[in-house]
Amino acid sequence: MRWKTGRRSSNIEDRRGRRGVRPVAFKGGVGTIALVLVASYFLGINPLEILQMQTGSGPAVSREDWKPTASQQQAADFVSVVLADTEDTWNAIFHKAGQTYREPTLVLFSGSVSSACGMASSAMGPFYCPADQKVYIDLAFFDDLKSRHGAPGDFAQAYVIAHEIGHHVQNLLGISTQVRSAQRGLGKAQANALSVKQELQADCFAGLWGNHAERSRQVLEQGDIEEALGAASAIGDDRLQREGQGYVVPESFTHGTSEQRVEWFRRGIQNGDIDSCDTFGTS
Ligand SMILES: [Zn+2]
Repeated sequence: MRWKTGRRSSNIEDRRGRRGVRPVAFKGGVGTIALVLVASYFLGINPLEILQMQTGSGPAVSREDWKPTASQQQAADFVSVVLADTEDTWNAIFHKAGQTYREPTLVLFSGSVSSACGMASSAMGPFYCPADQKVYIDLAFFDDLKSRHGAPGDFAQAYVIAHEIGHHVQNLLGISTQVRSAQRGLGKAQANALSVKQELQADCFAGLWGNHAERSRQVLEQGDIEEALGAASAIGDDRLQREGQGYVVPESFTHGTSEQRVEWFRRGIQNGDIDSCDTFGTS
């Protein structure tokens, strides 16, 4: 991807080298414990683990001690350019529809991070939190994408970012809320099926971004689209399940098969308009 001369976004929050939970002296008493229990119930993990995180076992690394390496800086720079490019794309699309695009913040973190959606560790992969309208990425995920999932290339990374931004767009358009409320009365398999549609739409929105970026700024290089398709295929539910547990359980899919993810990204990048991303089949 041709990106080096691209605009950098001002919506990056760099929390790398910082602990996800600020270490606090454990003097909160009952109030603190109650708070921790509520948080852990929400996250579904062992409260004792959270207590340990809160009291801060292990050495605390302060922000001042941490300096990115040249390649870490380059990776952050790249993310900033892709984010800026999604801003230009979605600002234009919303403007054309007579609406205003609210630009999201992208948080870079390392290890673990606290968000308005709860604590998260890098192992979860990049995510979007609708409650604070922020995208969270540990750049180590991109190494994973390359070495563990066999999906190298800068455009593969751009696809991941654009997918998370796609969730932000769904949030602004009210789609996420509609999906959540529709899921409430459903059984697990049907609720999962709706999640899949939402994820595939985010893939399509990522493709749509690629279409606009290419049309207005000619960012694509030879092999870029294949890189993104490779990533879409690598993180399909069927492939991840086969790699992880050796078998596939379609009812448990939440993101779609490799084939579906590739198909919807392709639709987005070929057509470049929102209507072609109607994974819910409403129009
Ligand atoms: Zn997603």
